[in-house]
Formats: sequence, structure tokens, C-alpha cells
Amino acid sequence: MPMIDLRSDTVTQPTAAMREAMMAAPLGDDVLGDDSAVQTLERKVAALLGKEAALFVPSGTMANQLAIRCHCESGDEIIAHGESHIIHYETGAPAAVSGCMIRPLAGQRGLFDAGAVHAAVRDRDIHSPYSRLLVVENTHNRGGGSVWPIAQFRAVCAAAREHQLAVHVDGARLMNACVAARYSPREFVESADSISICFSKALGAPVGSALVAPQRFIDRARRFRKMLGGGMRQSGFLAAAASYALDNHVERLAQDHTRARALGERIATIAGLTVNPPPAQIESNMVFFDVAEQFGDARELCAHLRAEGVLMIPMGPRRVRAVMHLDVPDDVVERTTAALGRATA
Ligand SMILES: *Cc1c(COP(=O)(O)O)cnc(C)c1O
Repeated sequence: MPMIDLRSDTVTQPTAAMREAMMAAPLGDDVLGDDSAVQTLERKVAALLGKEAALFVPSGTMANQLAIRCHCESGDEIIAHGESHIIHYETGAPAAVSGCMIRPLAGQRGLFDAGAVHAAVRDRDIHSPYSRLLVVENTHNRGGGSVWPIAQFRAVCAAAREHQLAVHVDGARLMNACVAARYSPREFVESADSISICFSKALGAPVGSALVAPQRFIDRARRFRKMLGGGMRQSGFLAAAASYALDNHVERLAQDHTRARALGERIATIAGLTVNPPPAQIESNMVFFDVAEQFGDARELCAHLRAEGVLMIPMGPRRVRAVMHLDVPDDVVERTTAALGRATA
């Protein structure tokens, strides 16, 4: 039996049809402006999000960091949830690349409200960093794959505007949020200035993300992308996979969400494992659970699970994450539950 790999939704292989689309892509040197597959993707994503322009980049980290570089000056402060990807998983890039600090907000499941934004904005005072940018992550990874309600997002954007802050959406899994909450991507990001979106996550493309924003912003970002070594040549191969993913792999995300919820419900019945957020609050493709001491720590449990044919990833000393995606087998819930049962026996 092949392993069931639930470490992340980044582990997927391109499907046969996606590979065909890649092979058929019209290529050119994109740094010279000649790759029509990249240009097609950039127009498609910009239209999907209702903004003027988009830039295809190698990773979500680069998309977020280009946004920060374009919005902020050195010494500025970014406001973001304390469990944000930009704080935990982008290698200190806001400080290293843009000279920015981040003011972390608290709040359940990676969410916060307008009051928290108002309270975090600094007075314009000679002593203080300049509060410049609000970053909202949707879905929120460390929050449990949680989905921002659109009204709550609009309220935090309005609060940011009152203080002349820009708003960036880290939408690595924005399409998961849209499918889960039934809002359109365009509708959701209407009040945002810039958005990053990943094709290499649940959408199932091998590589790539996009930064989406007004044209002038994207023109500057394109220059910084080149500066950071992200100018790619015949990248239409990759862009074609991303276009294919947007055309064919969005509606199927609902299946990942159903499976995640079902797995969460099964894990909740295993003594010593606490699903958190609880199954009723599993909204997208992720399941997080905490491991009781009797099973050792998260690493030990993941090692036992590996021996039982299932891969998951430790996200803290006691915390484990499982993510649904395109390549899981139909009996993923049954087989994973059985493997967890054996690993905790
Ligand atoms: C994966 C992810 C990113 C970008 O990650 P890369 O691995 O650099 O593509 C950004 N934000 C969130 C919330 C993510 O999950």
C-alpha cells in the first residue's frame, strides 16, 4: 500500500491532464516579456480577484514579501495575527528584506476584530514605528485552516483605512476560503490592496504563486522580484499548470473540506487525541489535534504513524497537522483512522 501523505497539500503530483497543459504551453522568455502562458495566467488571476494586474512568482513567501517590500519603508510596523505565516514561516524576511517589525495580534483561530486593529495602531509620534500595513491570512494555517467571515474582514479593513494603513491578504489558500464560505474571491478581496495566492497548495500545481494588485504596484513588485532573483525565463510551463489548476481544481476543494471534517470527527473519538479546533469548526482542508502525554510528543506519534503508512506533520511539541488534498485515496478517512488507532494502541 502506498503511503498516505497528509503532511501538507503541497505534496501533490501534477495530474496527467495538467502535464498535458504544461507540455502544450506557448513559451518565451518572461523576463523579456515574451511568455504568453505566464501573461495568460497573470490576466486570469487579476480578473479572478477583480484587480488590475498580477505577477507570477516562485512561492507564496516571495508574493508576501514583495507585497511587504512595496507597501512599507524600512522601520515601518506591520500589524498581523501572532500566529501568521509571515511571522512563523518566512525566515524573518519582513525584517531581512524590508526592515519591518510586526505587531502581533491575539485572537481565536487566527482571526481578530476591528477593535484589535484600532488598539494596535501607533500614535504618530517621533518615538514610534510607523504603522503601515495590515496583513490578514485567509484561510489561516496555524489557526486551523480557519476561514475569515467576509463581514469581519471588511470591518478590520475599515479600521485599517481609518489609520491610512494598507491591507494585504495572505491568501495562500484563498480559494479554500471561498469554497468553504461561498463568497467569490473578487467579493472577498474588494477591500484589500494586494493579495497573494498559491497554486502549489490545495490547487495542486507543482510550483508558483501570484501577487495581485493595481498595475503600478505590480510594476514595482516586478522590479523587486528581479532583484531577489525571482525573474524566471520559460516559466510558462509552470504558469500553464497554475492556469489549469484554477480552471479545474477549485470546485473539488469542497471534497477536501468534507474529508477533513470527517477525519476530525473520527480522531475526536480516539482517547488521548484532542481535535482543536473541534470537528464542528473544521472549515477547510486541515485537521489539527493535540496529543496526550501517554503517546509521547507530536514527533513520536508522527514516527509511529509513519510506520503505519500515514504521514502527518508535528506543528508544536504536542500538536499535529493533517491536510487533505488532490492525491489522497478515497478511503483516506478509514485508513488514517485505523493507522491512528494502531499508533495509539
Ligand atoms: C504556504 C503558505 C505561504 C507561502 O509558502 P511558500 O511555501 O513560500 O509557497 C504563505 N502563507 C500561508 C498561509 C501559507 O500556508
